Amino acid sequence: MTPLMLGAHMSMAGGFFRAIERGRDVGCQCVQMFLKNNNQWHAPDIADRDAERLADAIADCGMRHVIAHSSYLINLASPDKALWRKSLDAFVTELQRAERLGIPYVVLHPGAHTTGSERAGLRQVVRALNEVHRQTRGLRAMCLLENTAGQGTCLGWRLEQLAAILDAVRCPERLGVCFDTCHVFAAGYGLAAQSEYRQTMRALQQLIGFERIKAIHLNDSKRERGSRVDRHEHIGRGQIGAEGFRRVLADRRLRGIPMYLETPKGLEPRSKLEWDVVNLRRLRALAQNGS
Ligand SMILES: [Zn+2]
Ligand SMILES: [Zn+2]
Repeated sequence: MTPLMLGAHMSMAGGFFRAIERGRDVGCQCVQMFLKNNNQWHAPDIADRDAERLADAIADCGMRHVIAHSSYLINLASPDKALWRKSLDAFVTELQRAERLGIPYVVLHPGAHTTGSERAGLRQVVRALNEVHRQTRGLRAMCLLENTAGQGTCLGWRLEQLAAILDAVRCPERLGVCFDTCHVFAAGYGLAAQSEYRQTMRALQQLIGFERIKAIHLNDSKRERGSRVDRHEHIGRGQIGAEGFRRVLADRRLRGIPMYLETPKGLEPRSKLEWDVVNLRRLRALAQNGS
């Protein structure tokens, strides 16, 4: 069977290359990072030196599948014209930065329709992505739409909404999908019991298609199934539980797709090890059919 590819989201504080080094230090085979401060619109220019140091770190650490996550400020579903335009420009910048750094994918949450309707929100996302693709013609860096927990008016929690976007954009070949286990569970899809898992994967296959999934976020959920609340928990310690992750890790259709933790950071109190170390070990144990 194809080997697993396990990693985590890592901080780029101190330079992009630091995300790679931090990932190496906790045992990541793949790394996700932000390409700038994710709570600010401002994107400072990337110096040649920064791009080189990242490339060197990737080569030195033997890191694979380095991907990016876009800023949380971006809302391509917004009914507010100014915010929509600002978001569109910011996402173009994210793709350009990824291209400059040789990063193939940028994860994007579809956005929130806020005071508008679901239909209008989805239409805005499609319009925005068409415009993004027009402005970034020739770039290799691609957008990965992420399924969401469906907090408030956030779109993309029902897989039909992601499918509607993929079906409506002019260049669907320039879009992929990032599948988040916490989000899908919070949105109401089951993962633990075999029958629920099968049903969830059937929906994923029929509405999205496994070939479109280029990244997986492995997060347990603090909140119950269907809560539509986005709170990540350590692997096996949340409402999804170890069994759900055992199924994901054993699923041949998902093998070969890089998987990233986005679980809380810090030290596990008992072992005093980094939580990322603990969670990656747990995943590898679960993949071996252990606990
Ligand atoms: Zn995620
Ligand atoms: Zn989340």
